[in-house]
Amino acid sequence: MMDSALVYVLLLLGVAIGWTLGYRFARQAKKASSPDWIPSVEFLLAEANDASLERLLNVPNLDDDSIDLFLKLGRTLREKGEADRAVHLHQALFARTGLPRSTQMLLELELAIDYSYAGLLDRAERLFLRLLDARGRIQEQASLYLTELYEEEGEWQKILKLQRDKRLAVTVELAQRISHAACELAELAAKQGNFLETQQLCRQALKTDSRCARAYVVLGNLAHSQNEPREAIRCYLKAVEVDSEVIVVVLEPLRDCFVAVGDVQGLLLHLESQWRASQYVPALAARVECLAEKDGIEKAITSLLSELAEQPSNQGFFALVELVVSHKRQLDKSQLLVLYDILRRIVENEPKFVCKSCGFKAKEFHWRCPSCKGWSTVTPFVPQLPGPKLDL
Ligand SMILES: [Zn+2]
Repeated sequence: MMDSALVYVLLLLGVAIGWTLGYRFARQAKKASSPDWIPSVEFLLAEANDASLERLLNVPNLDDDSIDLFLKLGRTLREKGEADRAVHLHQALFARTGLPRSTQMLLELELAIDYSYAGLLDRAERLFLRLLDARGRIQEQASLYLTELYEEEGEWQKILKLQRDKRLAVTVELAQRISHAACELAELAAKQGNFLETQQLCRQALKTDSRCARAYVVLGNLAHSQNEPREAIRCYLKAVEVDSEVIVVVLEPLRDCFVAVGDVQGLLLHLESQWRASQYVPALAARVECLAEKDGIEKAITSLLSELAEQPSNQGFFALVELVVSHKRQLDKSQLLVLYDILRRIVENEPKFVCKSCGFKAKEFHWRCPSCKGWSTVTPFVPQLPGPKLDL
């Protein structure tokens, strides 16, 4: 039974290969327009057992199209979690003589990626390092993959050393990675009390990527820890100027530093502009808290309500409740009406239905899911919240 099944598969494969090669020779003269003379990757994967792979690999002549097919097949195998078969495929191809140097390097790159997928990191590293001496796309790819590999291992020093030795092809993406490697080391240095080194590493990060907001954050934290709130404020503000999103990490220290220098007005102004730029609700909440201290709770509540009417959000609603409760206040009737309207708009915006098959969320009921096209899969959306916190 087993034997006959095997014979059948091999026969089928033989026919496919024979057809492929025959068709290929017939079309070689007028090639180029469509490459569909080679079987698809899907076909190869469906039929690919080790024996069929061997037969394919033993095809006498490899042209650019068949190399291309093998490369696709290798990548697909790797992504399916079959890195060892991808390694076998790329090694067998690499061992063939007569391949142009550019093809050999492409295969070497694929092999190195296979190794890193398979967890053979030393081998991957060696190959990537060798490929850094190539030029163009191969060098770019090797630089990126090698950097990723070092990131996984936390080998930040190695990344910086490669950059110092000018071995990396620095693209915009890679520049960002290198400057983060410098920031990782800067944070370590700061933790160990090496302030000079921290500053040097941050400068290096900014030299590689002038838009590295994190370097300004690290410098700000350094100044903050050394009781230099004015310098810290300068760095934090520079960080949010470069990237308004980093307000999430600088909000609290920024507030502390402004308070330390006694500049409430400046704090209010900056929180206001951060809220406008990033719509980060904690910035709004901090601004309102600050306003409550400066101008009184009534003014703070009024201001928060009008912001929430413009930009309703659950988090903002929560901030309002917190403000009211912590200051032991009650809302009057007109304030409650505004609040009612804000809540109504939040709820209206929530999904009311969810597809139990694909998770698609909808505001209206559908018999047929617009996303996965399943019938009768859309059900009422029930938010899964954690149970009540128990005070024991
Ligand atoms: Zn669906």
